[in-house]
Amino acid sequence: MSLAILCSVHRYDMDSEILAQAVVDYARERLRLHPVPLDGSRSHADLAATAGATITADGMGGVEVLDLFDKVLSRACISVDHPRNLSFIPAAPTKAAILFDLVVGASSVYAGSWLEGAGAVYAENQALRWVSDLAGFPPQAGGVFVQGGTVGNLSALVAARHVAQQAGRQAAGSGTEPTTWRVVCGSEAHSSVETAARIMGVDVLVVATDPDGRLTGPALGAALDAAGTAVSDTVFAVVATAGTTQFGIVDDIRGIVDVARERGIWVHVDGAYGLAALAAESVRHLFTGVADVDSFIVDPHKWLFAPFDACALIYREPALARAAHAQKAGYLEVLESPDAWNPADYAIGLSRRARGLPFWFSLAVHGTRAYSAAVEKSLATARAAADQIRALPYVELVREPQLSVVVLRRLNWAPEMYYEWTEKLLQSGFAFVTPTVHEGETVTRFAIVNPCTEPADIAAILETMA
Ligand SMILES: *Cc1c(COP(=O)(O)O)cnc(C)c1O
Repeated sequence: MSLAILCSVHRYDMDSEILAQAVVDYARERLRLHPVPLDGSRSHADLAATAGATITADGMGGVEVLDLFDKVLSRACISVDHPRNLSFIPAAPTKAAILFDLVVGASSVYAGSWLEGAGAVYAENQALRWVSDLAGFPPQAGGVFVQGGTVGNLSALVAARHVAQQAGRQAAGSGTEPTTWRVVCGSEAHSSVETAARIMGVDVLVVATDPDGRLTGPALGAALDAAGTAVSDTVFAVVATAGTTQFGIVDDIRGIVDVARERGIWVHVDGAYGLAALAAESVRHLFTGVADVDSFIVDPHKWLFAPFDACALIYREPALARAAHAQKAGYLEVLESPDAWNPADYAIGLSRRARGLPFWFSLAVHGTRAYSAAVEKSLATARAAADQIRALPYVELVREPQLSVVVLRRLNWAPEMYYEWTEKLLQSGFAFVTPTVHEGETVTRFAIVNPCTEPADIAAILETMA
């Protein structure tokens, strides 16, 4: 086969023109839908029967494959941006952010290094700067957009352990590095902390949260004291959660920082969901102390209106993270220069797309005030939901909401009734609201991150529980 033929699939020809039109039309149609259809999951057998084998020796042709995606595959995916999708933590990307995702895809940018992606990294860093400023971080703070909170938490903890190792931290009385390092978190911390610890080969010391679901400074101090120096000397980091996934509860960050400082322990804040609310005046006070932590994460793909996948990982002293993460190789030396900001130096991973750009573009387009207003809107809807639940005889709040997650029980429902109800709402394309288990009890929860979710949507969902 001649090189000309090999390269032909890369050339913009008539077929490309037709496909470009079809793809752009498809994207425009999806953006215009309001609300989007909820759609639903399908079994593998069902998809195999309908979509069949898609990879063939000669290819199916662009318009044909796009049509298959439109008619079959896309409809077997639940829309995370539906205003009555309140499951897990959904998403609500702005039109500007979604549109710019197309541009990022078309631009073939390598955003792992400044040399190759300077313009993209410059823009990403301005978006990181906005988040850093919200947290009250100093001018030298910085970081990188990684895939999600799981990779963000892992990367921050790897940096924290490296710092403890470099500082020559020793196990009590042994004169040597601890054989087992430990990270501390509250009992309502996200599962990714446990996952990170397993990957790193470190132990997790779990401290019970108070009845409101918060890890507090005094509880942390007491747990470290009770564990004794043999254990507490091996603690390299504490993870405070700023908005638990289950309840949206914010830990006592101020108290945690005070206890950790005295003991030379790195404080990382997992704000994957909740730190977005730093943009909201009405709840900012919940995050007091965040300005003094060592690192934090917040996922723009959760409550900052960006498409998947983007987690902002930010360090107070990025040089400490670079020492832990920068990969060394002869062919990478060309990337080194005193003022080059290489995003790959601050997290797990080397090659990366400029995944922070859709978030940056939308922020630049709409301005930060629109972000504050949109986050406030979900908070207001959550407060309205809580009021509605208090007023109805057949449901009750499991806890008072702090942010935009509302957890409720339907009185007299056995666990399977929650599952049947969820299934029915999804089947009818009306809403996607999943059960969760709290202290052994099956309940349900509304995670509200979409500014298009109205109190009337909540009322309609609650009515289906009557
Ligand atoms: C969602 C979430 C994570 C994990 O983030 P991913 O982006 O899903 O990897 C971590 N911590 C908290 C508190 C979360 O809500």
